[in-house]
Amino acid sequence: MGSKSLEKFLKEGLNDLKSKGLYNEINTITGQNGPVIEIEGKKLVNLSSNNYLGLATNKRMIEAGLAATEKYGVGAGAVRTINGTLDIHVKLEEKLANFKHTEAAIAFQSGFNCNMAAISAVMGKNDAILSDALNHASIIDGCRLSGAKIIRFEHADMEDLRAKAKAAVESGLYGKIMVITDGVFSMDGDIAKLPEIVEIAEEFDLITYVDDAHGSGVLGKGAGTVHHFGLSHKIDFQIGTLSKAIGVVGGYVAGSKDLIDWLKVRGRPFLFSTSLTPASAGACIEAINILTESTELHDKLWENGNYLKAELKNLGFDIGHSETPITPCIIGDAAKAQEFSKRLYEEGVYAKAIVFPTVPLGTARVRNMPSAAHTKEMLDEAIAKYAKVGREMGLIK
Ligand SMILES: *Cc1c(COP(=O)(O)O)cnc(C)c1O
Repeated sequence: MGSKSLEKFLKEGLNDLKSKGLYNEINTITGQNGPVIEIEGKKLVNLSSNNYLGLATNKRMIEAGLAATEKYGVGAGAVRTINGTLDIHVKLEEKLANFKHTEAAIAFQSGFNCNMAAISAVMGKNDAILSDALNHASIIDGCRLSGAKIIRFEHADMEDLRAKAKAAVESGLYGKIMVITDGVFSMDGDIAKLPEIVEIAEEFDLITYVDDAHGSGVLGKGAGTVHHFGLSHKIDFQIGTLSKAIGVVGGYVAGSKDLIDWLKVRGRPFLFSTSLTPASAGACIEAINILTESTELHDKLWENGNYLKAELKNLGFDIGHSETPITPCIIGDAAKAQEFSKRLYEEGVYAKAIVFPTVPLGTARVRNMPSAAHTKEMLDEAIAKYAKVGREMGLIK
């Protein structure tokens, strides 16, 4: 057998997590990841996917994916910089730039990969990055990879950001300084204070970087958080994912033509990892067509989100301070949050518990992601189960 020290490390680590209620059991769904899912033969109202607009299972999207597969095959065959750039990749990037109101865009294999690529393509060991304390794990990893000095500022605390930006500039220690934030924070559903961030960035000549994975398709009539605030010409990097509201897989960076040209020669996942599958590119193009033709799905998402939030709040749950359809139910204790999620599951509602390290210790929650694809009946069923289980567990009166 293999290494004894590895075996000991894994056994102890797994046992430790399980004893603390922090080990995540993975469910397998059979069939589509739609508003109702099936797990081990059981049908559940699904409140845990990022498929905000229902596009992951949309008919037009499926047909576009199939058509691209028929035309180009199942794989792109190479990395983008050798000969893995198909005309649908280029078309997708043109569409994305248009959609985001920027000069240009570059597509990657995932949103995670965008953060691996884009931060280290520009920032290095002589630079500094001001990073919101609740930024997504892929931002944190991207910052680490760059080798730049990472300076955390308190979540959404603009006074702290200003003070740390000022100190960083006055220290004279750094070449370039970047400020980096999620557009929408996925665990609480709050929106970054971009107007203030831009003001501080202008004062101290900071590079601005917004990862809008949860904002695109949701805010700004679909175009995202930056457009929502009318700041498209003021944010240097706009990161998006093609896996959440867009419903497929992949990611992109939108910005100036020079920035995108630079990422095409320095964004390492673009150079060293095979490009998006033709089906993904084709389906993503169709998603942007759907989003630009009408705001119907966007409007339905907000209607459903507002309804779910109001009803859960009425029941007496702590739903935090979400400003988007993301609806957390904050329980606090990790084991209790997991028990709550498990009881909801037994009652036919899939709402995942989210615990440390995804959220800070003591703020464990069950997070709800309503979508445009849910009917009012599905939401009412989920709300009734929340009431039942919440009372049984003594979480509400
Ligand atoms: C989900 C998410 C990502 C990762 O996107 P994928 O396309 O799923 O890899 C990156 N950044 C943020 C802020 C996210 O929420």
